Amino acid sequence: MLSVHTSPLHQPGTGDAGGMNVYIVELARRLAAIDIEVEIFTRATTAALPPAVELAPGVLVRHVDAGPYEGLAKEDLPAQLCAFTHGVMQAWAGHRPGHYDLVHSHYWLSGHVGWLAAERWGVPLVHAMHTMAKVKNAALAAGDTPEPAARVIGEQQIVRAADRLIANTAEEAEELVRHYEAARELVAVVHPGVNLDRFRPADGRAAARARLGLPADALIPLFAGRIQPLKAPDILLHAVAHLLEEDPSLRERMVVPVVGGPSGSGLAKPEGLHKLAARLGICDVVRFRPPCAQDELADWYRAASVLVMPSYSESFGLVAIEAQACGTPVVAASVGGLPVAVRDGVSGTLIDGHDPADYARALRPFAQDPGRADRMGAAAAGHAQSFGWDTAAAATAEVYTDAMRERRHLRSAHG
Ligand code: UDP
Repeated sequence: MLSVHTSPLHQPGTGDAGGMNVYIVELARRLAAIDIEVEIFTRATTAALPPAVELAPGVLVRHVDAGPYEGLAKEDLPAQLCAFTHGVMQAWAGHRPGHYDLVHSHYWLSGHVGWLAAERWGVPLVHAMHTMAKVKNAALAAGDTPEPAARVIGEQQIVRAADRLIANTAEEAEELVRHYEAARELVAVVHPGVNLDRFRPADGRAAARARLGLPADALIPLFAGRIQPLKAPDILLHAVAHLLEEDPSLRERMVVPVVGGPSGSGLAKPEGLHKLAARLGICDVVRFRPPCAQDELADWYRAASVLVMPSYSESFGLVAIEAQACGTPVVAASVGGLPVAVRDGVSGTLIDGHDPADYARALRPFAQDPGRADRMGAAAAGHAQSFGWDTAAAATAEVYTDAMRERRHLRSAHG
């Protein structure tokens, strides 16, 4: 696997580390469990890193020197792809021929390295976009920075070069065909999963609130994830201001945790959300928390009345499935993978558009009927059960097998 711009060893929820990091870790572990050994190449970001680290039995993370350890933004990485490829090739040169059976690249930057490596080694290239420039640009938050044309061109090249593309949802597969002219038969849909051992209702909402020092009877709408305009945590804050305007008595029993750190275009104004909370006069109810390990995040999910995801685009939205697996319903924008992740009216509510008044309307019933979080949460936990990583790994292994079979077939057809 190739993950150039972010390491599976990084803490997700801030900077460049998010769902893709979790995806790679969970998928690699589950692949290793079914006897597919995985090596993950990623860029070294501190001098202290050893060249290779065992992440789990059968999963090795290899650190590649490509550019300075610090101070290099994701936008600067296209200039480092040759150096990165050089590092990958050096590692390969130390092995017997045929060491790698297949390349699975994640995100377009890795796709470019994978393109060359797969061709050089005579093995298939399987690529997962995770996010696509054209899709992001079509649904930008007001004033957000569009993805550059160079990324669109790069993505188009990878679509042409890959033996198989893996999409998170049928909608993403459709976008690959519509925006990037991918051959439909080469796109496989594999839903990401959730770690059902870690994300589970456990001892329930009241116990989680007690552990986190949160009031037992409060309305707690939670935001969790990377803080950037794309994820629209500002819409949640506006919706909360609406609710408090309509019913000032709610102020006494409302807490709005925002768990995560600045990322992407959100890095330009890291204080932006704090300032908005101040402008809206809701600093007393909003609690900003730094990104945390998933075991702690699971408690935030359990404690919440509802997870709120007003995102403008979301290739899947792992936090939606994780919260549901913990027994918490989700109010989400009806974009990207969220209509797959959330069963509208059963495990949560899907909302068309980004009008804060609509989000306030969806949250109000949780304030009026405290039992609603438990009832919908139970349905949500049931819904999440169908998203195990074992299923995702088995489906991915099938994509690998198909791609390898086709290669062999082509080789024998050409003598
Ligand atoms: N996450 C975390 N700690 C935090 C916030 C988020 O570990 O404080 C993880 C979360 O569990 C999830 C991932 O970051 O697995 C975010 O994935 P998602 O698909 O929701 O968003 P992305 O980052 O891919 O845009």
